[in-house]
Amino acid sequence: MNIVIYPDPVLRQKAKPVKEINAEVCKKVEKMMELMHEARGVGLAAPQVGWPVRLFIIDTDGSSHGEKVFINPTIIEEEGELNKEEGCLSFPGITSKIIRAQRIKAQAYNLKGQLLEIVVEGLTARAWQHELDHLNGELFIDKMSPSNRLAISQQLKEFERTFKNVKVPV
Ligand SMILES: [Zn+2]
Repeated sequence: MNIVIYPDPVLRQKAKPVKEINAEVCKKVEKMMELMHEARGVGLAAPQVGWPVRLFIIDTDGSSHGEKVFINPTIIEEEGELNKEEGCLSFPGITSKIIRAQRIKAQAYNLKGQLLEIVVEGLTARAWQHELDHLNGELFIDKMSPSNRLAISQQLKEFERTFKNVKVPV
């Protein structure tokens, strides 16, 4: 398992709901946490490791104790607006300002299969919205302003060029 980089097509797939929380799911989640911490990220969605299911992990306090797993997540309410710098582990080296809701109310199952309702704001709310987008095949480049998108267009082209070169059949 590895973090996949743009423009891997798995990043554009709509992820399927998790049907059963079993040992295999727990094992994959553990591996995702390792990868996220290695890459010093605050969030990682299952499609980013080539696993197209509706699950993501978030750890905004960086302690590796505060990490949380959210399964079949939904956002119920959004409030306010914040335009802040954001990055993505599938786009190494790229950051851009993105407008997100400031505060959200959401629901998700945890690894024990309990449905939890949470209210979060700031960085955690931003991470939630970013990771939930991944489950719908949406990426933060889709939400950049035209000028911000233009500013990173060369870097995107470079990712696309590298990806094609890797994928050429022998
Ligand atoms: Zn991302």
